[in-house]
Amino acid sequence: MIKFLDLKAINDQYRQELIKAASRVIESGWYLHGENLKEFETQLADYIGTPNAVGVGNGLDALRLIFKAYIELGVMQQGDEIIVPANTYIASILAITDNDLKPVLVEPDINTFNLDIDKIEAHISKRTKAILVVHLYGQVCWSERLEEIANQYKLKIIEDNAQAIGAEFQYKNGDIKLSGNLGDAAGFSFYPGKNLGALGDAGAVTTNDSKLAEVVSALGNYGSIKKYINDFQGLNSRLDEIQAAFLNVKLKFLKQEYEARRTVADFYLANIKNSNIILPKVFDRKNHVWHLFVIRCKVRDKLQEYLLERGVQCLIHYPIPPHKQTAYKELNELSFPITESIHQEVLSLPMSPVLEKEELVKIVDTINEFE
Ligand SMILES: *Cc1c(COP(=O)(O)O)cnc(C)c1O
Repeated sequence: MIKFLDLKAINDQYRQELIKAASRVIESGWYLHGENLKEFETQLADYIGTPNAVGVGNGLDALRLIFKAYIELGVMQQGDEIIVPANTYIASILAITDNDLKPVLVEPDINTFNLDIDKIEAHISKRTKAILVVHLYGQVCWSERLEEIANQYKLKIIEDNAQAIGAEFQYKNGDIKLSGNLGDAAGFSFYPGKNLGALGDAGAVTTNDSKLAEVVSALGNYGSIKKYINDFQGLNSRLDEIQAAFLNVKLKFLKQEYEARRTVADFYLANIKNSNIILPKVFDRKNHVWHLFVIRCKVRDKLQEYLLERGVQCLIHYPIPPHKQTAYKELNELSFPITESIHQEVLSLPMSPVLEKEELVKIVDTINEFE
């Protein structure tokens, strides 16, 4: 069986270093807010290109804390509207509603699965305060037009960078920035299955705004900057020392890993030839780090079953859009035809830096024989 994602094989590549890192933490006697977290925050900020990076408990908290910090800073208030793609993973929406902000869902572009930037303006109202872009499946969602819209309407742009660490955007003048350094603030997830995966939960916020970083950091630690002095009603969301130590090991190999993912994607793109299948579109190779390789097929369920019977495990990201979830009854009546067709047609092929050539050949041959 070719697994969709073999996490054990991925982490086995760094087995010795991970064990050493864990034992150093165990022996240090210091398990939260120590040297490993500091080092990771420094490394991550350096890598992304922002002056600030704050480690937090997970990716959902990273996004929740950004909105909570903007509310504390008076930039937003309860009831304000946040534009967000309708086809995102539910965590993006939860971060908004958890802060009593209102998600305004906008359709994606069917070709990239990312928020359709041309549709944003029609959804801006007096209460719109931010656009939450999601770099879905590992592909940057950005354009110079997006920046113009945000400037014109004085909106913050927040990046959900859970899936796209390492992806780059190139401006017309040639400048290149990494996702996480494009908007006003970005939330990262280091959930084990993400491209930079911890061995448990972890997340981070990056931003060029040092005041925002300070408030996010305080909010994730009971609202306290100085111990036992509480400036805000915060929460407990910390990136612990063991996970930070693992992430310090794995961050060094991130580029090597996303390049291996790009090789897998190139192979799929060049060799999958089946008229039942629509391959993902990429406009610039640098834009995509291939967290997921997502194809479309009208008879998706049949294709998934066919592949599983022949030893190829594929998953669906995601089977039900947020507005159709029981958790969001108030959104259930809304209609987003592009989003709904995506959720019915998408299938994620095995994607990881440790797939072997023979496995790729088998996957492609099996797909090409599907009728
Ligand atoms: C994984 C993910 C999150 C949440 O990250 P966790 O670390 O699981 O809390 C948020 N947004 C997107 C798009 C994700 O894929």
